[in-house]
This record gives sequence, C-alpha cells and structure tokens, in this order.
Amino acid sequence: MGQNLGTVDTVLCMGASINQAAGFYHAFRASRKDYPPICATIGDSTFFHSGIPALMNAVIQGARFVLVVMDNSTTAMTGHQPTPALGKNFDGPTIPLSIPEFVRACGVKFIEEADPYDLNNFTRLLRSAGKHARDEEGGVAVVISKHPCLMDRSQPRTVSGKKVRVTEKCKGCGFCIKQFECPAIESGGEEMPVRIDEATCTGCGVCVSVCPHKALELTD
Ligand code: SF4
Ligand code: SF4
Repeated sequence: MGQNLGTVDTVLCMGASINQAAGFYHAFRASRKDYPPICATIGDSTFFHSGIPALMNAVIQGARFVLVVMDNSTTAMTGHQPTPALGKNFDGPTIPLSIPEFVRACGVKFIEEADPYDLNNFTRLLRSAGKHARDEEGGVAVVISKHPCLMDRSQPRTVSGKKVRVTEKCKGCGFCIKQFECPAIESGGEEMPVRIDEATCTGCGVCVSVCPHKALELTD
C-alpha cells in the first residue's frame, strides 16, 4: 500500500525491511561520505514473527536508520488473528508480550510511541528519530506507530462522530485522492472535485492536515 502512496522505495518479503535498511546503511557508508535518510517499516505481528533477530543484528552491527513499527494491534492481512502483544490466544487469556520491551532488549536506546493520526506530532517524532539515527552517540531509532485497526471488529471503534466538509478552497489538485488515498474521499466531478463518503468516513480528521490548500474542515 505504501508503494501506491509513493512512500516506499523497496519491498522484498515479510520481515526483510530491517535487514534491508541495515544493508543500505552499510552499503552507503562504504561508498560515499554521507548517506540518505533510511526508514524501515514493519507491522506489529511481523515484528514478532521475523523482526526481532534482524533488529538485534542491526544494532550490534552499528547500523543507523529509523524503524517504524506499525502497531494496529492485530494481524490484519491474514484475518485479524491476535498478535503476541494482545494477551490472548485462541484458547483464551495468555501472557501479553511487549513490543517496547523487546525493542529495548535488542539494545535500542531511542524508543517512542505515538498515534500517527496526530499527524503534526507524529511528524515531529519522526524528525527527532531521524536526528537520533545520525547523532554521534545515536543508532537505530524505533518509533511505534500505534492506532487500532479500523477493520478489526474486536477493537474499540475510533469513530469521532465528526464530519468532513469540502470547502470552496478546494482546487481540485487531487492530492487527497491520488497521494493520500483515504477510501472515504472520492472524485466528485467538475463542480465539486472531491466528495466525502459519509458511510465510510470515521471523522478522524487526518485529511484536514493533509490537504495542501486547507480546503477540508472538520465539523460537528
Ligand atoms: S481537498 Fe485539498 S487535496 Fe483534495 S483536491 Fe481539494 S485542494 Fe486538493
Ligand atoms: S476524516 Fe478521516 S476517514 Fe474521513 S475523509 Fe478524512 S481522513 Fe478519511
């Protein structure tokens, strides 16, 4: 999905992102003076499945990059099975395992958690993670991006009850449809280039921060 949004340069296989990021760092350092910002993403269940050995390896090999663990508290891609962090298995309650504790045990010093729907705060956090990755005393920085999956009916629904209004400032630039891709935003024709599908909109308000022309408003 990140590839559609133009935010992902490479994908190999489940759990490969951390090893790839470490490899990119070492390859860049070997071939030139500076290196570009490197960011790996991994889901919460994949982190448990195959991310932990890669993270240990990245830390002990001195790699520097930002790792975003996208924690939606479910295994969404395969049918919403519980992750080891949820404290339940198919037979009932069990011991919940903590992602931050695993990250800390891998030797990572920078571990922060935030809700990505708070776009401005989350952007600031990513910048400070990037700074840590480049600091002399820094290293791998881990940001846990935590927000419950909207498709998982076993989790509390985060529907705000607010609505989004498309104002006359809309320029029809298409950024919200082509780049942001919230499924509730649709093409609305020439007179009103964008329309919001109220049946699927949760009123989260992220699109309000995303529109470059400040054309979207959140209303009660
Ligand atoms: S709502 Fe904003 S981003 Fe979407 S088409 Fe209008 S101006 Fe562009
Ligand atoms: S408020 Fe949230 S769900 Fe509704 S259109 Fe905006 S981004 Fe999409």
